[in-house]
Amino acid sequence: MTHIDYIDSFYKHTMVPALSPLTLNGLVQVDVCIIGAGLAGLTAARELLKAGKSVVLIEGNRVGWGASGRNGGFVSDGYAQGLGALERQLGVAQTKALFDVSRLGTNYVQQAVSELGARGVRPQEGWLRVSRYSNEDRLQRDIDYFNSVYGTAYGYWPKERVREHLVSELYFQGMEDPEAFHIQPLNYALALAQDIRQRGGQIYEGQQARSLEKSSGHWTVRCEGNGHVQAGSVLLCGSAYMQDLYPKLERAVLPVATYVMTSEPMAHQLSRAIRYAGCIGDTRRAGDYYRLVEDSSRLLWGGRMTTRRSQPQALASMLKKDILSIYPQLGDFGVDFAWAGLMGYCLHKMPVLREMEPGLWSATATGGHGLNSTATIGMLAAEGIAGLSDRHRLFEPFDAQWGGGPIGRMGTQLVYWGLQMHDWWDEWRS
Ligand SMILES: Cc1cc2nc3c(=O)[nH]c(=O)nc-3n(C[C@H](O)[C@H](O)[C@H](O)COP(=O)(O)OP(=O)(O)OC[C@H]3O[C@@H](n4cnc5c(N)ncnc54)[C@H](O)[C@@H]3O)c2cc1C
Repeated sequence: MTHIDYIDSFYKHTMVPALSPLTLNGLVQVDVCIIGAGLAGLTAARELLKAGKSVVLIEGNRVGWGASGRNGGFVSDGYAQGLGALERQLGVAQTKALFDVSRLGTNYVQQAVSELGARGVRPQEGWLRVSRYSNEDRLQRDIDYFNSVYGTAYGYWPKERVREHLVSELYFQGMEDPEAFHIQPLNYALALAQDIRQRGGQIYEGQQARSLEKSSGHWTVRCEGNGHVQAGSVLLCGSAYMQDLYPKLERAVLPVATYVMTSEPMAHQLSRAIRYAGCIGDTRRAGDYYRLVEDSSRLLWGGRMTTRRSQPQALASMLKKDILSIYPQLGDFGVDFAWAGLMGYCLHKMPVLREMEPGLWSATATGGHGLNSTATIGMLAAEGIAGLSDRHRLFEPFDAQWGGGPIGRMGTQLVYWGLQMHDWWDEWRS
């Protein structure tokens, strides 16, 4: 039995009962062993089971304990890397093919939530992205371009409409994506885990995978304690939390910390500031994102990024300052929960989905845009391993290239600060 608990977050506070944890003892033989029970590993496990494979999931902590159970809960199409950068690298046709599979990920989450009757997930549609400087022409041009080339249904919001819904003088025009939605992500992960168990998949929690060994025709995964798994294929889904298991991948995935907090219940104050039920974010390159939760009584707010692994003491007051700079009318309010999580980023800001060597696969590094893309890469990895399709090859341009170690981390931090400066400059000029 594992005694590892979830971090103290709003999601833990509102979680449905978790699975009773199982401990791995001795040898288990299966078709596929997946390491990491975040949303990537869980989706892949579910899809492999549907394809008739036997599956073991090894989780060092608890199901959804990593980024998957700590994030903002925004589900939308696309990737951490922007479409403009992808178009420059790959051209429009290949970018469109990648975007289309990212949309499958969004649909997957929506369908799974409804098929599983997932309790406590509470999907809520819509994503309003607002500009912090007057940006009418550019925004309309972008919307027309995305809708015509990528088949999205983005809508334009003039400044007056934005300010009716988000009462802040810092906001100007907006763009709404009606197909995006938000969820309680930890409960979604738990619903997937429940389904995996019901389909005969084995999930072992509190069980770090310590080594990978290849012998004729199979891989052996040794875990702490005396448990080990023999499998025809292994799928690595440990993201930023994986260490000392497969260095080639770990060196490529930079751990980047980001933060979320939830206010105390304050429905009355919030009704004077935020009147939009979906996801809200600004178009800053290094932006804030937030939403109302618990029947619009609390504010859940995410923002900031750092390559430091430690959680700053002043996290709650730092985020509160960000909130009050936009909505001073909220006045002084209490913060009930504040937490950090690690996102796994590669330098190319795209997932690493590939067969690293025969029988050893990776589906990881979805960065800050993982709720749809973990579903995408989980699905495509399962199809690849089961030999059902080779759609994973769409991700071939994104190798597990070395992230630059401490210098790479410093570079990432500098890029983030650079983005902040760009944002301030745009706002100052407007
Ligand atoms: C604070 C925050 C806010 C975010 N907000 C959003 C958002 O609103 N929308 C969005 O799309 N994305 C968001 N993201 C990104 C998204 O959460 C991630 O991209 C996604 O959850 C990654 O899922 P994963 O399964 O790849 O990794 P994780 O969820 O991190 O799971 C990895 C798991 O692997 C386990 N593990 C690692 N190594 C081992 C080992 N050796 N043995 C056993 N187990 C191991 C870990 O314990 C962990 O549970 C956010 C991320 C954070 C941190």
